[in-house]
Parts: sequence; structure tokens; C-alpha cells
Amino acid sequence: MLQQTQMERGIVYFNRWLERFPVVVDVALAAEDEILRYWEGLGYYARARNLHKAAKVIVEDYNCKVPSEYATLLELPGIGPYTAAAIASIAGNEDVVVVDANVNRVFARVFNIDQPVKTTEVQKKIRAVATALLPPGKARIFNQALMDFGGLLCSPKAPLCHICPVREFCRSYALGLVSVRPVLQKAQENIQIKRVAGIILQNGRIFMQQRKRSAVWGGLWEFPGGEIVVEDDENSQLDVALEIKKDTGLAVIAEQFAVEVKHQYTHHKIVLHCYFCRLQEHKADTPQLRSAEKYSWLSPGEADRLACPSGVRKVMEYLKQHRPELFSG
Ligand code: SF4
Repeated sequence: MLQQTQMERGIVYFNRWLERFPVVVDVALAAEDEILRYWEGLGYYARARNLHKAAKVIVEDYNCKVPSEYATLLELPGIGPYTAAAIASIAGNEDVVVVDANVNRVFARVFNIDQPVKTTEVQKKIRAVATALLPPGKARIFNQALMDFGGLLCSPKAPLCHICPVREFCRSYALGLVSVRPVLQKAQENIQIKRVAGIILQNGRIFMQQRKRSAVWGGLWEFPGGEIVVEDDENSQLDVALEIKKDTGLAVIAEQFAVEVKHQYTHHKIVLHCYFCRLQEHKADTPQLRSAEKYSWLSPGEADRLACPSGVRKVMEYLKQHRPELFSG
């Protein structure tokens, strides 16, 4: 929950999650749509789906008890070396090292590593040194201490070198290179994306489609549409019918501009232009979905209860505020 999410916000999600799913069996028995709804806004939806799958495995194969052995944890969906090491060492006190951003920073500074820390080669070296330093039987304390040391003392912007207990071993301190360690990889540039989408209304119902599991925002629901390349905003009304045709096979008429919403997603800045659309009367074909695996005609209230990407959620909020009559039926 905390990846790319601030602690304060993460806590709200965590508490809400625990209230609804207090034990692992509650997660296992829930429908995937509900899991995604509780995760909505956190991004990285594959994690939510994997958490759901892992809960099922834990209930079926491990009698509802989360395993604490590193090798067993690695077999659960969504659990990689970092999470497995964190659970195995902190919950099970198994002798495995946890290397997170804090630990990377401490090692990069103490050993004055002059290459980007995220490279496989450097990661291997840090892991090997940390493993050699780990006192057997004390992984729980060692890992927690290293992470806290990086978080509280050897912090990214203002490390407290003047009170640091390992200052005399710290090579980057001795060389005056603390501020340039760790070496970071060049930040990716923001990519601007313009999308159009249609709110297709038919007898008080809205057409919604569920994205393919393998795609970004997999399993989430959205309005159909697509990416466009034009610079001129006025042209987007012409594009929406075309994009909906490509995306769903449905022939629609874009009748009226609804709303523009902006949304940031990792390195993508997305501007979404939404239009109210209606089906061309003589062409009520069965949709041929391209980016989605499922569709449904839903009342706006039903659509609002589904898990959606943040941009679509903003459109829903707009509809509730500006077209409340749609929700009153
Ligand atoms: S001396 Fe400064 S840079 Fe080196 S480990 Fe201590 S806090 Fe970090």
C-alpha cells in the first residue's frame, strides 16, 4: 500500500482495509471487484490482485496461517525477494537480509559506491556485504536497525553525520562525498498523454468496460475511448466516436462535451476529455472489446460502486455534482 503513497494516506487505506478484511480468510472470500474498490487510488493494481490470490493460497494450503519461511513466502503470488525477506526476518527471525531504499543509501555512503545503486550488479554486492555482516540469529533486530538507521540518521537530505556512530568507517564522509551518494539513476521524463472517452447513455444506463487483467489498471472499470495525438482540443469531439468505434466496435455520436480531468500516473501526465455520447440508433451491435475483457450497461449508481482508475473516478464525481438527476433513478 505504501509504494508511491505517503504514510498518512496509506494509514487511511490500511485502517479501512483492516476494518473490512480483519483476517486473511476475509480477503480470500471477497470478490475481486471489492478488493480493487478498497485499493482504488493506490495504483499498482496487480498488487491488490496478487494479495487476493495469495490470501486464497494461504487459506487453502496453509490453514489460514501466513507462512514465515523465506523460501515458502517466495512461492506466494506477489511476494518477491524484498517482501519475503522482510516477513521472514521480522516475523520469523530467519537469517535473511532486507535491502530497501534506506539500506541502499547507508551502504552506498559507508562504502562510497560510485555507481547507481539500483543496478543488478550493485544490488548483488550490497546484498552480499549485508549478508556477511548479519549476526546469526539476530536478523529481526539487524534489519530493523539498518532500515531505521537509514531513515532516521543517514537520511536522504540531511544526514546527522555529526552524531553518527559509524562515521569513522564511512568512506563517503571521509571523502566529503556524502551529498552525492547514493548515485541515482536519471529520472524519467514525464510523458504527456491525451485521451478521449465517451459516457454512453442508453435508457438511463451507462456503458462501462473492465480492463484486461494484463493491462495497466487491469481489472478496473472505465469509459471506452482511446489515446489521441492532436494538439487542438476542439478536434477531440471528432475523435471520441472514432476511438470508441476502435475500442468497442460501437457506433456512437458524441453529443456534448462533459468534462476534462487531469491525472498523474507514475511518469505519465494524462488529460482525459469526456463526452456524453449516444448509440447510433440503427447500430446497436454487440460490442467487440479491444482493451477490455468485459462490459456492462449499469445504472450510474452501480457504476459508481465499481473500482475505477483515478481519472474515471474524477469523472464520476463530476457527474454526481453536475448531473445528479442521472443518479436519482
Ligand atoms: S557518517 Fe553520515 S553518511 Fe556516513 S553513515 Fe553516518 S550518517 Fe550516513
